[in-house]
Amino acid sequence: MIAATRACSPDGPNEDAVRHDQCRAVVVDGAGVAERYRAGCSHTVAWFANALADALFEAMDDRSLALRECLRAAITTVADQHRDTCRLDQGSPSATVAAFRVDDQQVELLVLSDASVVVAESSGTRVVTDDAVAVMLDSYDPLVEDLTRDDWIEARRCADGGWWCAQHRPEAAEHALVEWLPTPEVNALLAVSDGVSRLWEHLGATPFEALGAADDPEWLLDELRAAETASEAGLRAREVRKLHDDASLVLWRARR
Ligand SMILES: [Mg+2]
Ligand SMILES: [Zn+2]
Repeated sequence: MIAATRACSPDGPNEDAVRHDQCRAVVVDGAGVAERYRAGCSHTVAWFANALADALFEAMDDRSLALRECLRAAITTVADQHRDTCRLDQGSPSATVAAFRVDDQQVELLVLSDASVVVAESSGTRVVTDDAVAVMLDSYDPLVEDLTRDDWIEARRCADGGWWCAQHRPEAAEHALVEWLPTPEVNALLAVSDGVSRLWEHLGATPFEALGAADDPEWLLDELRAAETASEAGLRAREVRKLHDDASLVLWRARR
């Protein structure tokens, strides 16, 4: 496996976290929300992303646990690390997750919220992601709602009838997308944070092209940064809030 991660700015913290070995891949993207939405917690977003990546990666070592169970266990592990010192119900960091696990027989993948896994099969290349937030945001009408857009989104984070990411409620794992695929039918897997999926969501590349470039991940990230800078006006027109985002990827290719 090949991986790379890069902070949105050279002097800022990287709030993405990546773990991988020969058969496991984890990408966690800590949500860069305003501090008032994390008021109950004294930890940083980067701490949360790394703690969750560690806990999920470790849980995935147990093959008897399906990926949703691994994520459930990981969320609980991290919540236990700060529930005595922080008031988790008063706002704490959260994250999106993309993960996969590969053995000779089976590929298992998991996506929670807007992280993605690109799957290359003989039938073609496709993207697994959960666009629940984007779909929900389409229904936000500032003329009707009492809340600002950000408060409206926050009120629906990890709430019944809202949208789910990894925070401190383990039942978030039940909202993750999961797939099981026969390994011989999968040629490659690419787990990414939304800092990378903007390549095909906003910058005109295709997932297939991104997958092809991922064999040299540092070069891919250089190209991503260059494309963002060149497309600044276009990104703004599409209401993409950040010119750059923390960007992470893990690539697995079948050796046949
Ligand atoms: Mg991101
Ligand atoms: Zn905390």
